[in-house]
Amino acid sequence: MADGRALEVLRRVFGYDNFRGQQAEIVQHVIDGGDALALMPTGAGKSLCYQIPALVREGTGVVVSPLIALMQDQVDALTELGVKAAFLNSTQDFARVREVERDFVSGELDLLYVAPERLLTDRCLSLLERGRIALFAIDEAHCVSQWGHDFRPEYLGLSALHERWPEVPRIALTATATAATRHEIAQRLGLEQAREFVSSFDRPNIRYRIVEKNEPRKQLLELLTQEHAGDAGIVYCLSRARVEETADYLVSHGIPALAYHAGLDAATRAANQARFLREDGLVMVATIAFGMGIDKPDVRFVAHLDLPKSVEGYYQETGRAGRDGLPATAWMAYGLQDVVQQRRMIDESTGDEAFKRRSAAMLEAMLGLCETVECRRTRLLAYFGEISSPCGNCDTCLEPPQAWDGTEAAQKILSAVYRLWKERGQRFGAAHVIDILRGKKTDRVAQYRHDELSVFGVGADLSDRDWRSVLRQLVAQGLLAVDHDAFATLALTEGSRAVLKGERRLMLRREPVRASRSRDSTPR
Ligand code: ADP
Ligand code: ZN
Repeated sequence: MADGRALEVLRRVFGYDNFRGQQAEIVQHVIDGGDALALMPTGAGKSLCYQIPALVREGTGVVVSPLIALMQDQVDALTELGVKAAFLNSTQDFARVREVERDFVSGELDLLYVAPERLLTDRCLSLLERGRIALFAIDEAHCVSQWGHDFRPEYLGLSALHERWPEVPRIALTATATAATRHEIAQRLGLEQAREFVSSFDRPNIRYRIVEKNEPRKQLLELLTQEHAGDAGIVYCLSRARVEETADYLVSHGIPALAYHAGLDAATRAANQARFLREDGLVMVATIAFGMGIDKPDVRFVAHLDLPKSVEGYYQETGRAGRDGLPATAWMAYGLQDVVQQRRMIDESTGDEAFKRRSAAMLEAMLGLCETVECRRTRLLAYFGEISSPCGNCDTCLEPPQAWDGTEAAQKILSAVYRLWKERGQRFGAAHVIDILRGKKTDRVAQYRHDELSVFGVGADLSDRDWRSVLRQLVAQGLLAVDHDAFATLALTEGSRAVLKGERRLMLRREPVRASRSRDSTPR
């Protein structure tokens, strides 16, 4: 437990009554000079874990933070509380830099925020030699992970801090926490001996929903108008073009939306971000370039129009919703095209084989979350090594999808693809194969005389939607491939054979039929 000083600072300086979760333990451990690796979900209160020890211990707490915009916010907030805080980064003029340096050396600062690339310069390291350091805090520590989506090469150099100041306690903090990332952080930052504090990653107020993607923008609009009218939220899209289109679409339907992506100039990005933080009820349509470190407590929804690359990414992005603890929605529209697109991006990436294998494994886990018939939260937390029971606050808990034996349906699709290729030497895309199975005499079917195939009409018992769902699940599981050509033609894979021969039974997910779309939404 924290000694009196920590609690006194918490109350006097920050105005909070009590520590939350593991804060007290972490704070005390660092005050006592221990190294710590703290893994806490977004919104759990990581900042206090180093701010309070910095105030209690002799000297200045040096905070490594990757985001310049964030430093300014943090320093402003601390200054308002009467804490002596400053930052050093490239936005300052030389006179200001000199002033901050002087304050540090004369021991006036409680906290000094520094960007990693700056920290490792000779000038900065020799500055640190001249002052007294209370602790090093390494924020967003997952940036050291080369496999992660936020990799910052400069983070790799941070182990130098320990070599130079072995007696100064270090605390690394992150909201990303698979066992693998945790291990990697500890190893790369030389924190193997540090005590690990792992908080639960559950965000009980977030309702997770993943829906079949049909007309994504229309589906999004429905979500916003029917369930989140007037709410602030973030919509994530994969590409800059899609961000622009989606923002325009929302605006043209009366929703106040802004765009954010790396293709916009810095001034526009900063202005849009500032508006989103300051004004009520704005919707930010963005690529994943937006969001790290954004502290807006009343984000009521996070919507994904495209599939994230990994469960970590999904968790981080959805975690920006509901930081105030009130009900919030994490919604995603997901379809076959997402699987195809993500696979293609991996195949076409310039990374080496190991990178591709890891990316593919991360994608598999993400697809598993999309296709599960179990509780989404259970699945999500299991990814972070936590065991939990069904939550009652996700789509699969509220409207359980059925699991059904899709072996026969799968065999029908696979044999249609097989026969087209074997008997005709042809390959076709999903829509046409579904037409054949359903026995639809389209112009194309007539043109190619596909009604003469033995598989024509064998799938009349299922709807188009059912077939699309089966097909998507086969592709997600790697039992059927979609070519990366312009026609997105279907092809069998290694795994197809076992299903075709009946050696493997397939349990599939049947999408729940939505009687009323907003039936499960809690009125606010
Ligand atoms: P994180 O960095 O983990 O996402 P922050 O450090 O930004 O989280 O804290 C999230 C919010 O919770 C902030 O508004 C912070 O002031 C608040 N907070 C943190 N600790 C406490 C506490 N012990 N009691 C009340 N509020 C807290
Ligand atoms: Zn659930």
